[in-house]
Amino acid sequence: MTFLDLGLEEKLLQAITDMGFETPSEVQEKAIPILLKEDTDLVALAQTGTGKTAAFGFPMLQKIDVESRTTQGLILSPTRELCMQITNEMNNYGKHLKGLNVVAIYGGASITDQARQIKKGAQVIVATPGRMKDMIGRRMIDISKIEYCVLDEADEMLNMGFYEDITEILSHSPQEKSTWLFSATMPKEVSTIAKKFMHNPVEVTVGSKNVGAANVSHEFYTVNARDRYQALKRLADANPEIFSVVFCRTKRDTQKVAEQLIADGYNAGAIHGDLSQNQRDIVMKQFRNRQIQMMVATDVAARGIDVDDITHVINYQLPDEIETYTHRSGRTGRAGKEGISIVIVSKSEARKIKQIEKIIQQKFQQKEIPSGMEICEKQLMHLANNIKDTKINHDIDAYLPQIDAALEGFTKEELIKKFFSVEFTRFYNYYQKAKDLNVSPGDMSSSENKDSVRFFLNVGERDDFNWMTLKDFLKDLLQLGQDDVYKVDVKDTFSFFNVDTKHKDLVLGVFTDFQLEGRNVNVEISTDTGRGGGGGGRGRGGRRDGKRDGGGFKGRDKGERRGGRKSSGSSDRGSGSRDSDRGRSDSDRGGFKKKESSGGEEFKSKFSGKRRGKTKPESKGTGGRRRRT
Ligand code: ADP
Ligand code: MG
Repeated sequence: MTFLDLGLEEKLLQAITDMGFETPSEVQEKAIPILLKEDTDLVALAQTGTGKTAAFGFPMLQKIDVESRTTQGLILSPTRELCMQITNEMNNYGKHLKGLNVVAIYGGASITDQARQIKKGAQVIVATPGRMKDMIGRRMIDISKIEYCVLDEADEMLNMGFYEDITEILSHSPQEKSTWLFSATMPKEVSTIAKKFMHNPVEVTVGSKNVGAANVSHEFYTVNARDRYQALKRLADANPEIFSVVFCRTKRDTQKVAEQLIADGYNAGAIHGDLSQNQRDIVMKQFRNRQIQMMVATDVAARGIDVDDITHVINYQLPDEIETYTHRSGRTGRAGKEGISIVIVSKSEARKIKQIEKIIQQKFQQKEIPSGMEICEKQLMHLANNIKDTKINHDIDAYLPQIDAALEGFTKEELIKKFFSVEFTRFYNYYQKAKDLNVSPGDMSSSENKDSVRFFLNVGERDDFNWMTLKDFLKDLLQLGQDDVYKVDVKDTFSFFNVDTKHKDLVLGVFTDFQLEGRNVNVEISTDTGRGGGGGGRGRGGRRDGKRDGGGFKGRDKGERRGGRKSSGSSDRGSGSRDSDRGRSDSDRGGFKKKESSGGEEFKSKFSGKRRGKTKPESKGTGGRRRRT
């Protein structure tokens, strides 16, 4: 099957050739002919990375009238990144269509600029629901004549609470348009929306749900919770050519891990909803250019990362909802490439690996965090191979006499040893005393207990907390790091948690006369061990009135509680306000072949040395650039 067979016109085929697409993916093969042939509603289910954009983009471009300035097509997408990506793709698809104007509408950018672009006449608008609704309300956009409406990533839009905005937007569109819904999963909400907005839609399904991609292998590493970051660094060091997305659960952790990595000399960046549009554009660009090797991301923000060739997905923290794992791991192994999905777990999380295995229907390999010496060896061999593959730069010739003079008297052997010592010493100094970070998954006898205090806290599930939200709440309140609050155990009306003994007074201090919305919240040092179901009778202080939102932490959803304030007036929820997302899978996709780009070589040469290049002033020179922690 070729794109020509699908019925696409010459100018679009030309663009396809330009882009290097050889054969249609499965969802394209199934959807494009249907959409071209008749004006029909369509529901298409296919995993992330299967080429859905082209599946609706090409038919839309073929069907609209480019000569006319009327807005004929509307594409709604959940996040700013996706919105821009789709716009970009549409422009690529339509680059031989003279007069085509595709305009992106999303929050966080000047509304007047966007209105101006629309005024010039946009045949296609790609929009996030929040901003779109806003602009329709202000009569800046007229969609009363659209003929095609795409709901892209419908599951995600609904997850993010855009149902009402979508309803509102569509109420301004004509009845007799075609609606095309694209989604990775088909939860109840999506079928509801399909029923409400569509008439006898044709259904196209590609692959099966919730199964991990076959070309992704899954590994897990068990460490003490507080060694998580060290483990991450070692994994990066053991894979000098790593190009990865590192997933954290919250925006705050995402930012923190990225900052730490950068401070330690890695080419890292963060992408999450608290960054401005501009900041996100910059890091995405750097990531695409491979200037960033480790992109630390929240789940929602990562939706916008459309980069092939990712070698490793690292679950620095597991997602709130285990189903999200498939979505994360699907960031690698795209376009037929191999990928590795890594999970760093603490002992108490090790059982979750089993749950994930059930969902992805694949086994995890249990691996060990490499030792310091293994890393030194990896780095040395990496250097050796780099040298082997490096093309000689003859501009050096002019300096050779000087270099010769400086190194006079050394044998080749000595020179090699010296040369390699530069690299080796750097890692060796850092790693020579490095401890073994591995713990066995079942081993509960942790050192954590020794210097640790367990607290009793008089809030619990009735206050709408679960262990994760309470942990986040405490971390924020105490200004502590990711792994400083642990063994959080939430009961009905009370909870337990641990901190290191050194933080004991901090906790007691913060909770002296602590009130939340008029209610006294207090802690006590507990005698509960933190194992088993301890503390059964300790419920005094908690409310027993059964009202879930009466006293304390009213009406917060996960997203709000994590991110702190929600910018209330903002018209676009973009990708920012929810950093948890529900089960999506990227699997079993109807794959396609893409011409190998020359990326491989370029990638290598761009990388080697670059990480080192960004030396911080105080660690200049050779030894121990980032190795001072
Ligand atoms: P989805 O929306 O299903 O997640 P995208 O439309 O974002 O997937 O496509 C994923 C990637 O695959 C993009 O980089 C896109 O350019 C590429 N792609 C799409 N169709 C093809 C094709 N037929 N051949 C090769 N690459 C393709
Ligand atoms: Mg898509």
